[in-house]
Amino acid sequence: MIGNIPPHLRSRISTIQLVALCIEKYFNHTEFYGPVVSDLRDLETGGVLIPSVGIVKGSLVCIVRDNLGSHGLGGFVEQFSSSLYFCRFCLVNRSDFHKEGGELVSFQRRTIDSYNAALDYLKATKKKVYHGVKFNSIFNELNYYHVCNGLPPCLAHDLNEGVIAYDMKIFIDYFVEKEWKSLFPSVPLRPKAYYLTHYCELIEAFGPLIGVFTLRFESKHTFFKRCIRGSRNFKTPTLSLSVTHELFQAYRRSGVDKHFKLNVKGDSEFFMHSYFVEIQNGISAMKLPSAVSECVSVELLGTLYQKGDVVVIRQATYQCAVEMGRIIVVLFDNKDCVYLLLEKLPTEFVPHLRVYEIGCRISYKYIPVADLLSEQSLHVYPSGPHLYVKLHYGLVCDTLD
Ligand SMILES: [Zn+2]
Repeated sequence: MIGNIPPHLRSRISTIQLVALCIEKYFNHTEFYGPVVSDLRDLETGGVLIPSVGIVKGSLVCIVRDNLGSHGLGGFVEQFSSSLYFCRFCLVNRSDFHKEGGELVSFQRRTIDSYNAALDYLKATKKKVYHGVKFNSIFNELNYYHVCNGLPPCLAHDLNEGVIAYDMKIFIDYFVEKEWKSLFPSVPLRPKAYYLTHYCELIEAFGPLIGVFTLRFESKHTFFKRCIRGSRNFKTPTLSLSVTHELFQAYRRSGVDKHFKLNVKGDSEFFMHSYFVEIQNGISAMKLPSAVSECVSVELLGTLYQKGDVVVIRQATYQCAVEMGRIIVVLFDNKDCVYLLLEKLPTEFVPHLRVYEIGCRISYKYIPVADLLSEQSLHVYPSGPHLYVKLHYGLVCDTLD
């Protein structure tokens, strides 16, 4: 996947390309990854010629896999339940991790030097593993990539299939049983719980981790699963799959898979006089362009804005005095600009639920989508007499202290 593609297109399956396929029983690290690394080296040094653009060079930023896959590719140990050094990010060892408070201690970060020192030690002593390193990954032959800083974590595997499913259950069961008397249960945590301590620095390195999780690639796999079931070819499956995939990509590139900045649903002419005087006055004051139309919903750069959803207008400081508005009219012009008429709502943050409770209309507000604090469009969840909205991600003010 090319990292320069804008985020709303990066998550589409068709922007994920096929590099190589291999039958598992024939897999060999050097034989399989060797040609891939060689191609990447050509891209780093020679680049590719793109007509009307010129020579474009590129390099590998990161490789996205689950923990087992990342360790196998990076030359790290693959036994998480028994290995002494189980972390690919640092040199924590199992006994220190299981000491009281060990899950909160930070250990020496792995570096290219520490990785190479481990390889030297393996060579000199003929040992099989040292400091969790088993062999030198062929990807380290690249000029701008090293497995020590190019194997990001996967949120879905660490949290949804790990800490939330396993460790959180232990805590909740324990607290229910002990009636919240003591702080930590004595059951040892699994390595995934320790990986979370690195998330801070990993977010700094890779950006929001949702951008490097494996789930989009897992969705891509469904294409191949469907094809192999349909083809019933078990003699040369990799050949049929790669040919079918490339034909499908060619079909999508032929124009059927065109993505527009703006997708409008249920558009109609905008009659300002069909609204209350209060709304009309506000819309006149907004100085809208003359060729403006109304619609039921609009998808702008992958985000759907529709009547009834809530958007964030601004906030004073982090989670304080957050101004939100419920969409009541959606307008757009011929320059792909979207304007919203909102009911401005009071909000109150509910810390233990991590949601905002919204109140009744204070006033009307007219705003171009470009002026919103965040592009998020939020669903409203009713619970008894209360209405709640939950942010997809945190809001940061321009000025951080
Ligand atoms: Zn670590």
